[in-house]
Amino acid sequence: MKVLVTGGTGYIGSHTSVVLLEQNYEVVIVDNLCNSKEMVVDRIQAITGKRPVFYRCDLRDEARLEEIFRAERPDAVIHFAGLKAVGESPKVPLKYYDNNLSSTLTLLRVMEAFGVRNLVFSSSATVYGDRATPPLREDAPLVFSATNPYGFTKIMIEQILTDYCKANPSFNAVLLRYFNPVGAHESGTMGEDPSGIPNNLAPYITQTLVGKREKLHIFGNDYPTPDGTCIRDYIHVMDLAKGHMAAIGLFERGGCGLKVYNLGTGHGFSVLEVVNAFSRAAGKPVPYVIDGRREGDLPESYADCEKAYREMGWKAEKTLDDMCRDALRWQEKNPNGYAE
Ligand code: NAD
Ligand code: UDP
Repeated sequence: MKVLVTGGTGYIGSHTSVVLLEQNYEVVIVDNLCNSKEMVVDRIQAITGKRPVFYRCDLRDEARLEEIFRAERPDAVIHFAGLKAVGESPKVPLKYYDNNLSSTLTLLRVMEAFGVRNLVFSSSATVYGDRATPPLREDAPLVFSATNPYGFTKIMIEQILTDYCKANPSFNAVLLRYFNPVGAHESGTMGEDPSGIPNNLAPYITQTLVGKREKLHIFGNDYPTPDGTCIRDYIHVMDLAKGHMAAIGLFERGGCGLKVYNLGTGHGFSVLEVVNAFSRAAGKPVPYVIDGRREGDLPESYADCEKAYREMGWKAEKTLDDMCRDALRWQEKNPNGYAE
């Protein structure tokens, strides 16, 4: 089976491409490199011994995307490409709506033109917004639940795919709602490479541990949680990558229509628990200060992952210590990420 991976040089797409190649799928990556480097293709090849086909292309460029589909004739698409900075999105909403929605609409039109009927979409736990109570289940109502334009693009794309599946009963769409992906490939040659100051907890901690940042700023310790810091469901990026393989398996078993699955571990850890796990991995304490709350943060978010196990046979296997060890190994071996 040939899988076209949009956003395949990005953080999650690159790890998923490795897993796909290792399972003997053919991989075609389409990425405009707005948040990743072409060097990632070399790293994927170094790990797997196979080079994915790579096209530098903006998904909104319909004519070029058609050329790629004509040349490659993929059987399925995994759609990772998108802008993802939650905090940036309220400042530049049009940029987020245009990039994330237009790319998806263009992709769907081209898939339809070439008769490609299998799509996995990167959704997010952010679609649950601040209305639902953890453990978050896939059947929680989503209408107007997001708290920022980024989250609304995910809800809107889920709705677009739902409507598209209704109108096209032979189309298969698997919406995967990721919780908090962290960690890196265990080789330490591929990982998360945020540009500028990291917004997310794990890369901020690893950059602090290698001396690129002075100390972690913990955003609030007065939440109604056992230690006062927020709780999230962290999932190892390699477990997440395998979740995509499980979704592709649904297509191979004859199709599935529209499906929605959480990809998390089902367990929440507080910011302080994550800090302690990284301290164990590093063999030294993570320097930190307690700051005020970050606007929009929820006290607690973790998944109910029972459905993904029941229907796809997938569950996360790696521990928080695995995530911290692998994230730190990547940061230590590549203190400046993929920069030359
Ligand atoms: P990433 O930024 O590392 O990867 C996304 C890739 O898409 C980048 O390589 C970027 O260059 C590419 N891209 C963006 N717009 C494009 C366009 N118009 N045309 C072609 N390529 C384009 O992000 P990631 O962390 O790997 O996330 C992948 C997907 O998963 C995103 O859709 C994101 O919203 C979603 N997601 C991520 C997280 C997370 O915490 N990392 C959580 C939930 C959901
Ligand atoms: N966090 C923090 N300091 C940071 C980055 C994050 O204290 O520099 C906290 C944040 O408030 C949240 C948790 O770590 O409670 C996870 O944040 P992240 O941005 O990684 O994920 P999200 O909030 O999107 O789930």
